Amino acid sequence: NLTSRLSSVIKNLRGQARLTETNIQDALREVRMALLEADVALPVVKDFIARVREKAVGVEVLQSLTPGQALIGVVHDELTRLMGEHNAALNLATTPPAVILMAGLQGSGKTTSSGKLAKLLKEQMKKKVLLVSCDVYRPAAIEQLKTLAGQLDVDYFPSSETQKPVDIALAAHDYAKKHFHDVLIVDTAGRLGIDQAMMDEIRALHDAVKPIETLFVVDAMQGQDAVNTARAFNDTLPLTGIILTKLDGDSRGGAALSVRHITGKPIKFVGVGEKLTGLEAFHPERMASRVLGMGDVLSLIEEAQRGVDHAEAKKLADKVKSGKNFDLEDFKAQITQMRKMGGLSAMMDKLPGAAAAALPAGADEKAMNRVEGIINSMTPTERRKPELLKASRKRRIAAGAGVQVQEINRLLKQFEQAQKMMKMMSKGGLAKMMRGMKG
Ligand code: GDP
Ligand code: MG
Repeated sequence: NLTSRLSSVIKNLRGQARLTETNIQDALREVRMALLEADVALPVVKDFIARVREKAVGVEVLQSLTPGQALIGVVHDELTRLMGEHNAALNLATTPPAVILMAGLQGSGKTTSSGKLAKLLKEQMKKKVLLVSCDVYRPAAIEQLKTLAGQLDVDYFPSSETQKPVDIALAAHDYAKKHFHDVLIVDTAGRLGIDQAMMDEIRALHDAVKPIETLFVVDAMQGQDAVNTARAFNDTLPLTGIILTKLDGDSRGGAALSVRHITGKPIKFVGVGEKLTGLEAFHPERMASRVLGMGDVLSLIEEAQRGVDHAEAKKLADKVKSGKNFDLEDFKAQITQMRKMGGLSAMMDKLPGAAAAALPAGADEKAMNRVEGIINSMTPTERRKPELLKASRKRRIAAGAGVQVQEINRLLKQFEQAQKMMKMMSKGGLAKMMRGMKG
C-alpha cells in the first residue's frame, strides 16, 4: 500500500542528495558487469571501478535522477576522460619523409589500415605518400598492399619474400627521400600470437627507419586478449598511437579501454569497414557510451541535466531551507520538470531491466497528466493553501478536471506525503518520489 511504499521510499531517500559508498554499491556492480560484458580485461575493470568509487563519493545528485543514474553519469565522464583526446592527429612534423610504422598481430588490419591512411594523407592532407610492405613471410600480403596502392594511385615500393625486412625498409626510406615523398608508410608482418622473433624484427625495423609515428593496430574483436598484446607491443616499441580496427563489428569496444589503460597512448583512428573509406577519427565520448552499453540511460541523464530547471530547483531548495511550506504549486512544478524529461513512461523505456522493474506498473504518464489536470483546476489560493479544500471546493475542482472527488483526496494525501519528504531533503530524486505516488 501507499504508506509502506512511501516509508521505504523515504528510507531510501534519506541522505541521498549526494553519492555515498553505500548508495552507489548496486550501480557500481552493474557498471562492473557492463564493462566485463564489453570485454574489458578484468584488471582494467578493477582499477577503473576503484577510481570511479573515489570520484563518485560526495558528488551531488541532480534533482530528478536516482543515485544510480547519477553514478552512471560519473562513470561515463571518467570513461570518456580515460579514453583520451578527441581526434589526436598524426604527427608528421619532421624532415621528410615522415615514417609511419605499422605494428600489430597478424590479421589485426595493418595492411588495410596502411591503405586507409595513405588515402587519408593523399586526399585530405595533400601528401605525397609511399607504401612499402615488409611482410616477407606472406607473398600474398605484399601483393595485397600493392593492389591497394594501385587502387589509390599512391606510390608503391616493391619488395619480395627473398629480402630482409630491415633492408626493404631502408631501401624504401632512401627512395622516398630521393623522390620527395612526404610520408612513408611501412607495413610489417604480424604473427598469430605474440612471439619473440616478431618483436625482435619490429624493434629492428623501428631502429632502422626511426618512425615519427609507431601505430599499434589492434582488432576491437580481440576483447580480453587485447591487454596482453598491447602490453607486449608497448614494452617492445615506443608506440605513439593506436588504430582500433573492426569497430563496425558487433564488439562493444572494451578493447579500447584496455589498450588505452595499458599503453596510455592515444587512439588516433578507428577502422569501421573493410573498404578504404572505413577509417574514422576516434570519439572518446561515443566509445565510452558504446563500452558502457547504457546509451539509453546516458541519454536520460543528459536530458535530465538539460531539462531540470536549475532556477526552479534552487527556488524550491531555498524555500524548504527557509522553512516555508512546500505547496501544490511546487508539486506541480516538479511534475512539469518531469514532463520535460519526456514523462515517466519515457523514462521507464530508457531504464535497463532492473531499474524498470523497480518502478510500479501504474506510475505512468497518464497518472501524471491527471495530477496536473487536478491542480490546474484549483485557484492559486487553493494551490498555496490546500487546507482550504473542503467538500464544496473539491466538488468544483473534480467537475473542472473531470475526475471523481476520491481522486482529489488521493492526490491530497500524496501531496501531504511529498510535503513530508520535502521537509527531509532540500534536493532529491523526484523519480523515487513519483514511485510512491500511484496510490
Ligand atoms: P594484417 O594481417 O594486420 O595486415 O591485417 P589485414 O589488413 O590483412 O586485415 C585482416 C582482415 O581484416 C582483412 O580481411 C581485412 O579486410 C579486415 N579488416 C581490416 N580492418 C577492418 C575493419 O576496420 N573492419 C572490417 N570489417 N574488417 C577489417
Ligand atoms: Mg598485412
